[in-house]
Amino acid sequence: MLDDVDLLVCGAGPAGCVVAERAASVLGWKVLVIDQRNHVAGNCYDSFHSSGVMVHNYGPHYFRTNDADLLAYLSRFTDWVPATYEVRSSVGGRLYPFPINLTTIERYFGVDLDPAAAERLLDSRREVFPAPANSEEFVRGRVGRELYEAFYLNYTRKQWGRHPRELAPGVCGRIPVRLDRDHRYVGHRYQVMPRAGFTALFRRMLRHRKIRVVLDCPFREVQNLVRPRRATVYTGPVDDYFGRRFGPLPYRSLRFDLVPHHTRFVQPCVQINYPNDFRYTRSVEIKHVTGQTHPHTVVSYETPTAAGDPYYPVPAADSAAMYNRYRDLADRETTRRRVHFCGRLAQYRYFNTDEVIQEALSCFQRIRRECGDRVPSASSAAVSA
Ligand code: UDP
Repeated sequence: MLDDVDLLVCGAGPAGCVVAERAASVLGWKVLVIDQRNHVAGNCYDSFHSSGVMVHNYGPHYFRTNDADLLAYLSRFTDWVPATYEVRSSVGGRLYPFPINLTTIERYFGVDLDPAAAERLLDSRREVFPAPANSEEFVRGRVGRELYEAFYLNYTRKQWGRHPRELAPGVCGRIPVRLDRDHRYVGHRYQVMPRAGFTALFRRMLRHRKIRVVLDCPFREVQNLVRPRRATVYTGPVDDYFGRRFGPLPYRSLRFDLVPHHTRFVQPCVQINYPNDFRYTRSVEIKHVTGQTHPHTVVSYETPTAAGDPYYPVPAADSAAMYNRYRDLADRETTRRRVHFCGRLAQYRYFNTDEVIQEALSCFQRIRRECGDRVPSASSAAVSA
């Protein structure tokens, strides 16, 4: 029995690292972090391919946030390089800026437009869905059927193994549509990448004399061996925690095929989407944004799969209903046993990296309050201590 632990953190991904770091640094707690993988950083993990090129092993992570406090907090553990995340979509053999912007609309319809004319053009094609109930309605209401079918329908089917009509509006709705020539993937105020990579950032976060990290260690193996004095933070799949008693929650997984090239760059931008061709959804040449200088490059081809490590919760009505049942159990577990569920898999939510860090800071605040140490509720207070 391992008794000299205040906080047990299951999962060394972004959520687990942040709660562990806060508990150790702010409260001086002894923290044990375990992970079933052989590395930290969760799906943000990056590493050096045998060619020496840095790759994102579990798909691209384009760091962005509007929150200056969050950025300041992470800056304690990394320097940054500025990054421009530029994505194009390959439709009918041509590359278009994606998200759809003024240039995309011009090229697709073969006309010159200003923003007002583009708005009129979209207006003539939009369909009316006063309260879009799913991703299909959302996109057709925004850009009309033709652009929906060219850019969204088949990509989404490949990515999720479901029709957009079965997915929540926010799945496709998280992609903006712009009537200017902004060619960036996202519009956030801060778009930066950790200079030495995400793995280095999270390793640094865990480098604390009160934090012990054990890798290759599944939760089940320590669950009954460790009795943390204060709390447990669980960041794994919520259905696994409860023995899948209501059935397995659906997750989407990915396969990555890495192809090295003896040239500096092969793509014109970091990511090309292939909505209508191939089994893979996108090719990612992450070197465009890591800031690395290297004579070679590596392109990663992403093929979605149903089996494999859980990467994405599936935002749909059936999965939400099942998750709600698990969440009730999770809430009870928090009250009864001080087990806190945090992160993409534990909360079954499609968080971005900045959002999951924000969640982890809030989780830390809740744990801290429960332990009688009162602090202001704003999440920024979690990082100012
Ligand atoms: N999507 C699409 N066409 C694209 C890119 C995205 O239809 O070319 C849809 C798809 O359903 C995808 C969702 O928009 O899952 C969100 O895309 P994002 O690039 O944000 O996905 P992530 O990088 O999180 O996999």
